Amino acid sequence: MQVIKKQSGAAFKLKKGQKLKVIDAEGEQVSDMVLFNAKDRREKLSSGKTMDFEESILISSGNFLWSNRSNKMVEILEDTNGRNDFLLAPCSPETFEVMYDYDGYHPSCFENLYTSLEEFEIQPDDIPTAFNIFMNVQFDEKGKISVDPPLSKAGDYVLFEAKMDLIVALTACSAEDSNNGSFKPIHYEILT
Ligand SMILES: [Zn+2]
Repeated sequence: MQVIKKQSGAAFKLKKGQKLKVIDAEGEQVSDMVLFNAKDRREKLSSGKTMDFEESILISSGNFLWSNRSNKMVEILEDTNGRNDFLLAPCSPETFEVMYDYDGYHPSCFENLYTSLEEFEIQPDDIPTAFNIFMNVQFDEKGKISVDPPLSKAGDYVLFEAKMDLIVALTACSAEDSNNGSFKPIHYEILT
């Protein structure tokens, strides 16, 4: 089992057929995930394609995550919590300036994703909308959204199976509102 320390990230390869278990070890902690085709990094995770083909904006067990080239990247085999978000971009330095009026350096998923992915020659501009595991984004009938505390409890996990050879990046999210005001680690495990 691997540990992503609070407010940090990791990137690694996942072969077709391997499984990835992403675990909220302590509860109420979001993990942003992005995926790239290991053989051609221009193919990457697509929120729009996933919601289109899965016919839902809520993505959980039984759903696939799709690429910008309309290929299946992973299948979600298990999801013990069941609430994930695929609407919002990873939190970035600007998130904290624009939305929180924060002055000075603040860690962010965006920075943690692109610095982890540097070794795979993936650039900041390549980062797509992340699949935000355990993130609890609610919306009303008029489309107004709110970021609420995660519903995940300690030990909740999502199990993915790779449908192609992948480069995966994961974070332990750095945004106060997404994690009910405190930052915890994320654990993951690659199962063959
Ligand atoms: Zn974040």
